[in-house]
Amino acid sequence: MDFSGLYQDCRLCPRACRVDRLAGSNGFCGESAALRLAFAGLHRGEEPPLIGKGGSGTVFVSGCNLGCVFCQNWQISGGGDTGRRRAQRCLGRAVSTDEFTAICLELQNRGAENINIVTGSHAVPAIVQGLNAAATAGLHIPVLWNSSGYESPETLELLNGHIDTYMPDLKTLDSNLAAQFFNAPDYPQAASQAILWMMRHRPPCHVIIRHLILPGYLESTRAVLRWFADNARDGALLSLMSQYTPAAESNKSKDGPQRFLNKREYETVIGWLEEFGIEDGFCQELLTGSDWLPDFNRRNSFSSDLSTTIWHFMD
Ligand code: SF4
Repeated sequence: MDFSGLYQDCRLCPRACRVDRLAGSNGFCGESAALRLAFAGLHRGEEPPLIGKGGSGTVFVSGCNLGCVFCQNWQISGGGDTGRRRAQRCLGRAVSTDEFTAICLELQNRGAENINIVTGSHAVPAIVQGLNAAATAGLHIPVLWNSSGYESPETLELLNGHIDTYMPDLKTLDSNLAAQFFNAPDYPQAASQAILWMMRHRPPCHVIIRHLILPGYLESTRAVLRWFADNARDGALLSLMSQYTPAAESNKSKDGPQRFLNKREYETVIGWLEEFGIEDGFCQELLTGSDWLPDFNRRNSFSSDLSTTIWHFMD
């Protein structure tokens, strides 16, 4: 089925920019109707069950509909400070449905445990078309949807039946923080509704809610943990992430927290897991350092022990 008409008058995500991307116009995500990718590879930096023996077959989509000021993938997302996002198109290259299919099949042939589509919320029609073609061509490994959570249920319906495991972020439930960091005060409402939709459509071990702890904003994390305990404890897994890296380390933005998480904050949050009775999921060890940050200008964009490149936009 061809959903490309949805790029006209685009309301694919909660921003509802209503631009005609088929005609080449860009909304907040900065992307036309062409599906652009930046990188695909076997990745060993995800939650252990997703890595298995062969690694997760990550496919990084260019552009983003959220645009966090502290984005670690700012080179390909267009995130970081707003001026940069507007002034400079992010890295990536348009791929046809055939090339998308070939990338997925190559990842499968090279031993990937799954296809892990990273930040594709603004490109759902093209991705569904690509996944249909790839399945017809023999793709049989599970498909993961790795997103910011800033999605609308209507667009998620297009993915239904194509996705094995959803991995949405739940970044914050604080509307003021969402306005400050993502220019999206409706993020809490949109992301929580999107996650509830995912939980209605997949069993608990196939919805992994990721939360990155923001240094200095522990009350935001506490609210997320409370929401998880009240709404998702029996319907999803929690993945708690401690790897926040000051944006100044990467994109020179001064708008996000300007330090790493400290041990006291980390231990406070771990204590809250117990307080809220959250037992199932994943918890990153305290990680402070920027060595792991990707550089998508390099063909081997991640460190070699973390990832093996299969496709790069400069190929
Ligand atoms: S997908 Fe892009 S153009 Fe469409 S509504 Fe979202 S941000 Fe706007």
